[in-house]
Amino acid sequence: MTFGRGARRGGPGDFEARLARAEQLLAAPGGGGGAAGPLALVGSVVRFQAGRATAPAVVAAAGAVAAGADLRRAAGRFPLLDLDAAIAPIAAEIPVAVVSLTGVDVGASGAAGPAGSHAGLAGSHAGLAGSNAGGAGGAGGGGSGGGSGGVGLPEPLIAAGLALASAGEEERAGLVEAWLEDPAGPEAVLGFWVRVAAAPVLELARAAVATPGRDDWSGAACPACGGLAQVSVIAEESGEFMGGSPRSLVCGRCAGWWTFPRAICAWCSEADPRRLPSFVPDERRAVRIDGCETCSCYVKTFDLREAGGAELVPLVDDVATVALDLWAHDQGLARPLVSFAGV
Ligand SMILES: [Zn+2]
Ligand SMILES: [Zn+2]
Repeated sequence: MTFGRGARRGGPGDFEARLARAEQLLAAPGGGGGAAGPLALVGSVVRFQAGRATAPAVVAAAGAVAAGADLRRAAGRFPLLDLDAAIAPIAAEIPVAVVSLTGVDVGASGAAGPAGSHAGLAGSHAGLAGSNAGGAGGAGGGGSGGGSGGVGLPEPLIAAGLALASAGEEERAGLVEAWLEDPAGPEAVLGFWVRVAAAPVLELARAAVATPGRDDWSGAACPACGGLAQVSVIAEESGEFMGGSPRSLVCGRCAGWWTFPRAICAWCSEADPRRLPSFVPDERRAVRIDGCETCSCYVKTFDLREAGGAELVPLVDDVATVALDLWAHDQGLARPLVSFAGV
C-alpha cells in the first residue's frame, strides 16, 4: 500500500479516520490498555471536530486563512497560511468547543463565573483517565453521556474551559495569538482548548494548500502553519522520490505532513548519526523512538512500511503508544510537543 498525497489517513481535515482509529483501538482486546483514558478523550474531541469541520463559519474562516498561500509560496514566504486571519475564528470556536465537550450550556446561566464555582461539576466527572474507559465503551454505540457532551473530561480541563468560555472575546483572542506564536506558551489546560478549537479551522485551511516539496522547504517547523512536529512518519511515496522512503514530520497544529531528513534531529539539527540513537520495541516494529543525545529530545516515528503499519493513523496511534513515551522519559529524553490529550 502506498501513501500518496491524498491517502494520508488522519491528515488535514480527516477527522473521520482519526475517530474510526480511536474507536477501533478502544474496542480491541484490552481496550487501549493504559492509554484508554487519553484515547477516549481523543475520540470525544475528534467527534466534535468532525462536526465543526462542516460548519459554514469554520469553512469560511479556513478559506480566509488559506487565501494568498500560493502567492506566499511563489515569494518563498513561510508559513503559507495567514495566521492573523485565524485568530478571531479560532477564538470564536472556543466557547462552542466548551459547550459541546463539557455538556454545560455556558450561555444559559449568564456569566459562568470563576471556574471554582463549578466545583460541584467535578463530582460528576470524577476520576480522570479511569472514568473515561467506561465512557469510551459506549462511544461506538452512540454513547450514554448524551450526544457528544460531557464525555468524561478530566476536571481541570472542564474548569479551564468554563473559565475561558466566560472570559471576554479579547482574552480568548489573546490566548489564541500567544499559542500561534509559541505552542508551548499557554498553560497546558488552556492550550488544550485552543488546540481543540483551532484544528477544524487550521486543518481545512491546510488541506486547501499544496504540500511544499523538499526543495521549497527544509525546516523543522510546519511550512503551512509554523507549528511543531507531533510525530514523524516513514512511508512509501508513490513516485515522488526515486526508490527512497522519506521521513515526514506531522504537524501537531494543522495535521499536515512535510518531508524532513531522516538523519537530522528535528529539534536541534544534530546530524551526527552516532548521537541519534533509535529505540525499537521488540513487539512493535512499526513504531520507534528517535532520540538525540545532543539536545536530549526525541520524536516518535511510525514506519508505515512495517507489519501493522498500514492501519496506523499517526496522530491517534501516538496517543495509543504512550507506554513508549514513558520509557523515553525514563531514558532522560523529553518531547517538545505532546498530543492535545496530554500524552
Ligand atoms: Zn502545521
Ligand atoms: Zn537534538
